[in-house]
Amino acid sequence: MTDIVVGDKFGAWEVLRRVSDGRYLCVCTSCNETQKRVKAHDLRSGKSLQCKSCSHSVKKSHGAELQYPSEYQSWQSMIARCTNPNNKDYPRYGGRGITVDLMWLSSFEAFLMMMGRKPTPEHTIDRIDGTKGYMPGNCRWATRDEQNRNLSSNIPLTIDGETKVVTEWARDPRCTVSEFTLYKRIARGWTDAKKIVFTPSRRSAEGSGEESREAGSDSRDSGSPEEEEEQ
Ligand SMILES: [Zn+2]
Repeated sequence: MTDIVVGDKFGAWEVLRRVSDGRYLCVCTSCNETQKRVKAHDLRSGKSLQCKSCSHSVKKSHGAELQYPSEYQSWQSMIARCTNPNNKDYPRYGGRGITVDLMWLSSFEAFLMMMGRKPTPEHTIDRIDGTKGYMPGNCRWATRDEQNRNLSSNIPLTIDGETKVVTEWARDPRCTVSEFTLYKRIARGWTDAKKIVFTPSRRSAEGSGEESREAGSDSRDSGSPEEEEEQ
């Protein structure tokens, strides 16, 4: 378990100092007023997210929570992966400094008002600029495919000291596959930038072994071969 240090954020709580074993003096950044000694366990588990008076605004939203269960679920997951170090996705979100807007953190209604309803239950929250947090103006409902595309376009890939984002590599004459294929490869978990950019499409790589197997190992998105998806 990671140590809690001054400046750590758990929900709206920001750690000011350690007071005794297992307790930390925190300031509630929703109101920037209340200071409280909070148990380390309550911080880590997400049991305590902010001061009492600020959490009242969350309680008010119970009606909306029942009326929009799918949106509510997305809102809760967003907060969990950004604020709860025990959440499995925390290392990729909260652990990388991705935060949730304070209004959104304290009010599901505020979140719902800005986001509107999901177009379909398959839509999840997408950050338009992947380097910024969950905040009004940077979020929209998007499908998984739309998100992979968006996330990848901001991902820098370095090959032999040359760094470009995916959209730039796709335009590079040395890259013989489409931008879409690059997104797919990243979404499938390819990590070697050189392979992502320079591996020819499966049709021309036939028989080359490792890459073909790797590309074929995940049929989660679609059963069709890569070259067909590109069209
Ligand atoms: Zn407060």
